[in-house]
Amino acid sequence: MSARARFNPPTEDDLREFIDLSLNFLCIADTEGYFKHVNPAWEATFGYTKEEVLSRPYLEFVHPDDREATIVEATKIASGSSTLSFENRFRCKDGSYRWLLWSAVVRHEKGLIYCTAADVTERKREAARLAAQYAVTRVLAEAATLASATPRILQAVCESLDWSVGAIWRVDQKGKLLCCVETWHVPSAQVKEFDQGTHSRTFSPGIGLPGRVWSQAQPAWIEDVARDPNFPRASIAAQEGLHAAFGFPILVGAEVLGVLEFFSNQIQQPDPRLLEMMSAIGSQIGQFIERKDAEDALRVYARELEVARKRAEEATRAKSEFLANISHEIRTPMNAMIGMTELALETRITREQREYLNAIQGSADALLTLVNDLLDFSKIEARKLQLDRVGFNLRDALEDTMRVLAPRAHQKELELACHIHPDVPDALVGDPLRLRQIVMNLVGNAIKFTEHGEVVLRVQAESRRNRDAQLSFSVTDTGIGIPPEKQAVIFEAFSQADSSTTRRYGGTGLGLAISMQLVELMGGTISVESRTGQGSTFHFTAVFQVQQPGREKPPARWRTLTDLPVLIVDDNATNRRILEDVFTNWHMRPVAVESGAAALCSLEESLRADQPFAVVLLDGHMPDMDGFSVAKRISHDRRYAGIKLVMLTSAGQPEDVARCHELEISAYLTKPIKQSELFDVIVTAIGQPVLERPRTPQRPKRARAANRTLQVLVAEDNQVNQLVATRIFQKLGHQVKVVSNGREALSAVQAGGLDLIAMDVQMPEMDGLDATRAIRSWEMTTGTHIPIMAMTAHAMKGDRERCLAAGMDGYTSKPIRFRELEQAIAQLISLPKPSKIPVSAGRPADGVIDHAALLAGVDGDRRVLREFVRLFLADCPRRLKEINQAIGRGDAPALCRAAHMLKGSVGNFAARKAFAVSQQLENMGRDGDLDKARQACVTLESELEILNHELEELTKNSSTRKKQMHKGSRRRGGVKDS
Ligand code: ADP
Repeated sequence: MSARARFNPPTEDDLREFIDLSLNFLCIADTEGYFKHVNPAWEATFGYTKEEVLSRPYLEFVHPDDREATIVEATKIASGSSTLSFENRFRCKDGSYRWLLWSAVVRHEKGLIYCTAADVTERKREAARLAAQYAVTRVLAEAATLASATPRILQAVCESLDWSVGAIWRVDQKGKLLCCVETWHVPSAQVKEFDQGTHSRTFSPGIGLPGRVWSQAQPAWIEDVARDPNFPRASIAAQEGLHAAFGFPILVGAEVLGVLEFFSNQIQQPDPRLLEMMSAIGSQIGQFIERKDAEDALRVYARELEVARKRAEEATRAKSEFLANISHEIRTPMNAMIGMTELALETRITREQREYLNAIQGSADALLTLVNDLLDFSKIEARKLQLDRVGFNLRDALEDTMRVLAPRAHQKELELACHIHPDVPDALVGDPLRLRQIVMNLVGNAIKFTEHGEVVLRVQAESRRNRDAQLSFSVTDTGIGIPPEKQAVIFEAFSQADSSTTRRYGGTGLGLAISMQLVELMGGTISVESRTGQGSTFHFTAVFQVQQPGREKPPARWRTLTDLPVLIVDDNATNRRILEDVFTNWHMRPVAVESGAAALCSLEESLRADQPFAVVLLDGHMPDMDGFSVAKRISHDRRYAGIKLVMLTSAGQPEDVARCHELEISAYLTKPIKQSELFDVIVTAIGQPVLERPRTPQRPKRARAANRTLQVLVAEDNQVNQLVATRIFQKLGHQVKVVSNGREALSAVQAGGLDLIAMDVQMPEMDGLDATRAIRSWEMTTGTHIPIMAMTAHAMKGDRERCLAAGMDGYTSKPIRFRELEQAIAQLISLPKPSKIPVSAGRPADGVIDHAALLAGVDGDRRVLREFVRLFLADCPRRLKEINQAIGRGDAPALCRAAHMLKGSVGNFAARKAFAVSQQLENMGRDGDLDKARQACVTLESELEILNHELEELTKNSSTRKKQMHKGSRRRGGVKDS
């Protein structure tokens, strides 16, 4: 083992060698500010000779900005504390600076300071480069536009790198020149001329620093611009102390969009790392520009889209108006076609001619349906369709609709049924006409596309929230069905499941599109389930408000039917099910069988068990043994003498009724059955007066037009329409005078002797609305009121309201039809004739109404009177509500209108007090003085309460009398209430 080499402490020479080897800067300074000794690293790094370093105060080498701090630090060391982390910049011989990190200690006894310094320039630069990159990234993330980003980018780079001036250049639109967009400099820099020179210049590719960067699409570095041969701004840069510079391109892909350049007050060696980083920043700015350009393009696109949307809306509106106008134009000649055809059909004609005319009528009706559909559709498209909100009776509305469709179903021998679940509320608020339109369309389609079997409408209560009820409707058929792939398209406008069916079945493909929109307006959805060849079920939901429970009495009052045994005989299972449900709901005891033979068995059975049926409900049309044969067997069997027979007959088969008469069947009903009628028929059949129905009585049906001849004024400018209207009125037994504008109408009214005006809305000189207003204001002076009925072809939403607001009393849309007109007149003649109110007539003997005067007013026709009462009882709560609401809102004109209407209605019953209070309220509304309105309204309510009670009694009496009359003649005719 060799002995370890002995280590002797270093000699002075050893230590000098060490010091000379060190890469750090070692020095000894005196306390006067001079270096006394420096190691060779100083010469190597800073470029001075040792003598140069030792001969000048060291502060001269320190960066002017760091001198003050250096003096403070030197004083601290001289006073005894050592330093370990002081940094400052030392100038190199070429003018550049390097960052030094110092460690020092003082030797007082020698008056010397021993120092060592490390070169931290590279670390400092890296930190500055990172700071610059971070700052630019932040600016780009936050800036909204390039214009707002550029000055902040220049500032961020200058401040992070400690450079003095920055400029940004953009390639001009033609791509030929670089133009300065923006410059920035540190506040302390005196670079006014350089700044101006930069702003006023442009550069071509390759020229100057920006031009070079542009043409090479790469960063470039100039150590000292003052000495660069390709730097046109060299002299002013030198004057204002700018030396090092670098520039880098803004790149999108390979394309240079612009250039950024920066200047320092010092001469600086190229910094490849910095240039690399700046390249990345250039691309980042490029991406920013690209993104902003895309956003701008998107904004422009969105603006264009908005403009296009507005144009489309405008176009739709124009289209809707066009359709409304076209529909008007089509309706006017159709008015003539339909009216004249109806008139011609009333004359003596041959069978052949009748056939032709019937064909014309059928086509005209189809055309009218199409025009109506188009109008609806255009209104929906233009979002102009709004739903009404009126009180209505759901069962009546639906059952009446089914009635209208029944002949079509029965012609095809289809069973048509309607089943409304007992839970479904009856008194609703909504748009009954539009609901009917949906049901008409779905049931109409079902009948159209079904050859055998049945079509059933079912309604159930789905959910209830506060006063809103969601109802679920379904229409099921056993028809041709719809293939799965077609089930979605049929709800689109003008589309049909199979274009070949169009020719066979007809139709436009608009019905379901309209229904869908209406259902959506009613807050519901529509869908279909179907199997080809097996049938379809259309479901839809809709939300309605449930009316506040009115004066309905508890079911105990119609106990007559409780526990009544009834036999249902029908081959159709759906019908049996519906009837069973209905009877069970009325607390009866139903038994249902599917054939005549089974019925006879059940009857035998009931005798054996000594539990005879009180009523047998027979379907007239059944296979094997039909209802009539069963009825014959029953009525010929003495054992069944006590049983009441009710026959279910089919619409469109008048011989059914004749057979009922033959067989002396007292009661018959036409399918589809209305629950209210079924109730009446059964109660009457078992010999009980109809005291009360399970729900609110039906609205009055078409009142027959007054027997007397009316003097009618037709105000209409179109000659053909004048003729049609005249003839129809004449056919209805009235006398007609014709005028062709509103002004003439006013004169005619002032001349007197008129009972009714049928007023066109659009007329020259003075239109129907203005004429009505003029007539109403003239009437204020006379205290008269002539009923005015609008006749309009426009049929747009709001027409009706505008007519009523102008003071008209009724409304009928063209083409004028016999029945509708008759109905409209019937309603109008029940309207107020205040001048005829027997204000000074003797008071009624007892009660609030004068029965005798009342009867006289309807020509002694109790039936008409009953209709009036029903109409009034249905209308009165609504008017009262309107009055209350108008008072609540402080809406004087609305109060005036509502009170006027109510006054007119109570006027019909010669109810003096109610009339007088209504009049007071009307006056308050007209004068805009609502102070005492609330009080008057309370009085009115109690007066109406008494009046309603009396009227109900009156109706009851007359109906009881009527039923008794029927009882006497029951074996001879139907008990159907006419
Ligand atoms: P239209 O009946 O006037 O053609 P709709 O919009 O009412 O228009 O119906 C569109 C299509 O949907 C019909 O043409 C038919 O092909 C199909 N469709 C509707 N209801 C039924 C149904 N109950 N059974 C079979 N197909 C039906």
